[in-house]
Amino acid sequence: MTINHHLDDATILAYAAGTLDPAISIVVASHIAWCPECRAEVRRAERLGGELVDGLDGELVSENCRERTFASLGTAALHRLPVKTAHPGREELPYPLQRLLGPRGLEALNWKKKVPGISIADIPVSGGKSVLKVMSLAPGIAMPVHGHRGEEITMILKGAYSDEMGRFARGDVADLDEDVEHKPVVEQGETCICLIAEEAPARFKSIFARLLQPYFGI
Ligand SMILES: [Zn+2]
Repeated sequence: MTINHHLDDATILAYAAGTLDPAISIVVASHIAWCPECRAEVRRAERLGGELVDGLDGELVSENCRERTFASLGTAALHRLPVKTAHPGREELPYPLQRLLGPRGLEALNWKKKVPGISIADIPVSGGKSVLKVMSLAPGIAMPVHGHRGEEITMILKGAYSDEMGRFARGDVADLDEDVEHKPVVEQGETCICLIAEEAPARFKSIFARLLQPYFGI
């Protein structure tokens, strides 16, 4: 697996600091499980965070604050940095996602066909304001042009698509800004499965609505 599209620095820092929503953390942890480059970046961010707190003048930061910061850094390092890349025998999914879904993996989910060639399944995640889902896109399908109205991060689990920003294949992440508009086209020959976390959207702005917009004119 060659990974060409990585997490951006702000996402790495927020992940290391433990401030991301659980749904977004799962996508980030899944990429990190497969990507040694981003794993090293998270370690560096955690080390830097520790040194910064260490170097702070005692008068500028209360003991209580220092302890809390160390505690959260410790938790971040303990729970968030995946040590395994995949569950033995289930290499098709990154370990953090496999752990969340259980032994049946993606088959355990309630898949809903939205339009021909596009199925979506919600993945329940407790806490936070973001939602997590997987989308299955048939080979050759072209998605309508759409923007992203909040923070959204996508990881490709299987297959590949191309858009204005390049080719995204297994392991790659699209860490999209709000103002990016794109029109992904799935490659021929293989179904593309993407793991997506997005900030809890208003009903209208959800990925479903965006997908359905051109078909229903909403
Ligand atoms: Zn990476």
